[in-house]
Amino acid sequence: VFGDDRKNSMGVATDIDSEWTPFAEKVSAFMEQVEWHAAPLVNGQILDGEKHSVTSPYDNRQQVGTISFASQQQASLALDTAAASFSSWSALKAEERGEYLLLLADKLEENLPELVALCHREAGKTVHDSIDEVREAVDFLRYYPGEAKALMDTPETYTDFTGLTRSVSHQGRGVFTCISPWNFPLAIFIGQVAAALVAGNTVVAKPAEQTSLIAFRAIQLLLETGIPAGVIQLLPGTGAELGSLLTSDERIAGVAFTGSTPTAQRINRSLASRNAEPVPLIAETGGQNAMIVDSTALPEQVVRDVLRSAFASAGQRCSALRVLYVQQDIADRVVALIRGAMSELSVGKPSLLSTDVGPVIDETAQKKLLSHIAEMERHAEKVAAVKLNGACEHGTFVPPTAFEIDSISRLDQEHFGPILHIVRYHADELDQVIDQINQTGFGLTLGVHSRNEGTYRHIDQRARVGNCYINRDQVGAMVGVQPFGGQGLSGTGPKAGGPHYLHRFTKVEASA
Ligand code: GLU
Repeated sequence: VFGDDRKNSMGVATDIDSEWTPFAEKVSAFMEQVEWHAAPLVNGQILDGEKHSVTSPYDNRQQVGTISFASQQQASLALDTAAASFSSWSALKAEERGEYLLLLADKLEENLPELVALCHREAGKTVHDSIDEVREAVDFLRYYPGEAKALMDTPETYTDFTGLTRSVSHQGRGVFTCISPWNFPLAIFIGQVAAALVAGNTVVAKPAEQTSLIAFRAIQLLLETGIPAGVIQLLPGTGAELGSLLTSDERIAGVAFTGSTPTAQRINRSLASRNAEPVPLIAETGGQNAMIVDSTALPEQVVRDVLRSAFASAGQRCSALRVLYVQQDIADRVVALIRGAMSELSVGKPSLLSTDVGPVIDETAQKKLLSHIAEMERHAEKVAAVKLNGACEHGTFVPPTAFEIDSISRLDQEHFGPILHIVRYHADELDQVIDQINQTGFGLTLGVHSRNEGTYRHIDQRARVGNCYINRDQVGAMVGVQPFGGQGLSGTGPKAGGPHYLHRFTKVEASA
C-alpha cells in the first residue's frame, strides 16, 4: 500500500526497475550472517564493557550484533574529553566544521546498503522506511552546515541612529548531551549531533539502547572523515544508568533530547537541580495527534493519507495520527473505505519492498500496545484489525487496528503504535473538536482534510500545534522544507530541520 510511491527525498519518482535490483542485491549481502558491535567511543577509542546481545524485532531468534554499555566512569571520561576539546573546535569557522558533516553525508550514501540492512534488522523498519531514514540523515548533514555558515561565520551588524555600528555573533556553548530515540535511530541521532557540532559544541551522545548499533556505525563513519576525535563521544547505555549523569553534570552546556514527555520533564528537573548556570533543553516529545475531515474532503485521498499517517512505520512516529475526527455526513463511507484499505495492508513479511507495516520496537512496546487493544475491545467498537500471518510469529508485531470512540479525551496517554481511533462529529461541533484536541495539552501534528478554504484556515488558526498539514498525510516532514517540532507537552522547539534550530545551540554576544 505505501510501497507504491517510492520517491527520493525531493519527491521525485525513481526508476525502480533498473535501480532496485542491483541495490537490493547489495542490501541482501548484509541481511544475514553479518553482525555488528557497538561500544562506548571516547576520543576515538573503543572502550570495553559488559556485552549484551541484540536481536531483531522481526525475529527474536535472529542475532543482529552485540553492545557494550558504557559505565558511569566511562561517561565521566567522555564528558572530560568533550570539555577539553571544546575550545579548539569552537574556534574553527562554522564552514570548516560543516566540511566534516558534508563528508559524512557522502559516506552514508556510499554505505547505503549496509545502513539500510542494519536499520531494518536492528530497528525493525521496513526496507522502504530504512531508505528514508538514511536519506533524512543525509538531508540534515547537508542542511545544517549552510545554516551554520550563514548564522555564525559573519557577525550580524546593526547601525543605530547616531551612526554607531554594533555586531552580534553566535558561538558554541560547550558540551552538549544528545539523547536520541529508537524510532529514527539514524536521522534524529545524526540530526542532533550534526546541529550541536556544526554550531561549535562538542558532543556526548547517548542513543536509545535499542538502536545502539546503527548509532555506533554512524560515529565510526564520522571519525573516518578526519574530524578531531575528541569532539564526539558515543555512550551506548540505558537511560537508567546514564541519563541522570548526562543531564545533571556541571560540564554540560545544553541538552538535545527526543523522546517521551515524562522523560523531558525529568531532564528539565535534573538540569534545574545543578548548582551551575542554567542551560537550554531542546526537547522534541510526544503527541496526541488528530486529523479533522469535513464533509467536503475527498474520501479516497483521506483514506490513503489516514493509512499512511496512522500505520506507516508501525505508527511509531511522534507525528503519527492517533485520532481521526470525521464529519458525520461522510463518516460511514470513510470508515468503510478505511476498513477495506486496512485489509490490503501487508504486515510482517521481512525484507520485501512491499511490506507496509513492520514490527514494533520490542516486547515492552508490544505488550503495552496489545493491552491497549484489549482495553479498547472491551469499551469501544472495533472497525478493523489486520490479521497477522505466520511470518510474524517470532517478532514483536502488533496488528494495525482501528476503533471508534466518542472523544480524544478517552485516551489518557499517547499509544505509540499502529492503533487508530476514530471519532464522528457534527458540522456544528467543529470548534468543540478543535478545543478538545487543544485540551490534551499536546501540540505536535494535526491533519486537516477539507476543500473549503475558510474551514481549513480556521482550523489551522484555532488549533495549537507545531505542524499542521492540509489535504495530505501528516508524517514525514522534510528537512529544510517542513521544519518539525511541537508546542505545549510536545516540545520546546525550535523546530528540527528549520532555520531557527541552530540558534538554541549557540550563545550570542553583542559588541558595540
Ligand atoms: N519528523 C518525523 C515525521 O515528520 C517524526 C519524528 C519523530 O517521530 O520523532 O514524521
